[in-house]
Amino acid sequence: MPNVLITGANRGLGLEFSKQYAEDGWRVFACCRNPDTAKELLELTAKHSSLISIHTLDVGNFNQIDELAQSFSQPIDILLNNAGIYPASPNGKLANSDYDKWLEAFRINSLAPFKMAQAFAGQIEKGQIKKIINLTSKMGSLDDNTSGGSYIYRSSKTALNMIIKSLSFELAPHGISTIVLHPGWVQTDMGGPNGLINAQQSVSGMRKVIEKLTLADSGKFFAYDGKVVPW
Ligand code: NDP
Repeated sequence: MPNVLITGANRGLGLEFSKQYAEDGWRVFACCRNPDTAKELLELTAKHSSLISIHTLDVGNFNQIDELAQSFSQPIDILLNNAGIYPASPNGKLANSDYDKWLEAFRINSLAPFKMAQAFAGQIEKGQIKKIINLTSKMGSLDDNTSGGSYIYRSSKTALNMIIKSLSFELAPHGISTIVLHPGWVQTDMGGPNGLINAQQSVSGMRKVIEKLTLADSGKFFAYDGKVVPW
């Protein structure tokens, strides 16, 4: 049975990924910051106790990432870098920039997926599927930016896109493919109630993209519906 390691698995898209993969019989390593209060993930795990295990992981804590990776002796088929933040500070205006929040967004949205890839590369290379999937956003697309604002979130995802593009070249000789994937505008805590699709629709679409992904497509920017997103 294939396996997947998911960050931010306690709510939103991470929780839905955990649910759908477990329902299909996958082994799920569900990582979250606070397992004790992850009510929905705990309920899901109770339903699929032989398939889902919960692991404490704050992706902003790079020592914790290393410790978790060292505790994994088994191969990992897919690493799903899902955890992300959209800082709630009023970041749309030049005058309102909050630099601490900006740096934190870079740590969580841009650097942590790279750190995860670095820490788990050995296990992924030993896996059967060899894929690293990184949740980005169209808001990180320069091409798609027709309205400005959201400096913090936009720039953190643009940085992620460039990091993953470079990583794709380094990992290709190891047979590992990696992409950035836009989930659509989704009704989650982050997307809000006006999102155009729900988590079930988004994750079903993303899983198809992930399944079809080959090494030839590594380094690309896809949306949940399989379309390539302009950089
Ligand atoms: P949510 O806000 O609903 O969930 C975010 C998840 O990330 C939570 O599980 C949260 O955990 C986790 N997380 C945040 N910071 C950390 C951290 N330091 N360590 C570990 N986990 C952390 O967001 P979505 O599910 O909507 O988003 C998932 C991904 O998709 C993100 O990368 C986001 O940027 C991206 N995305 C979402 C869109 C949307 O419309 N929803 C659109 C475009 C991209 P906790 O509960 O502990 O805070």
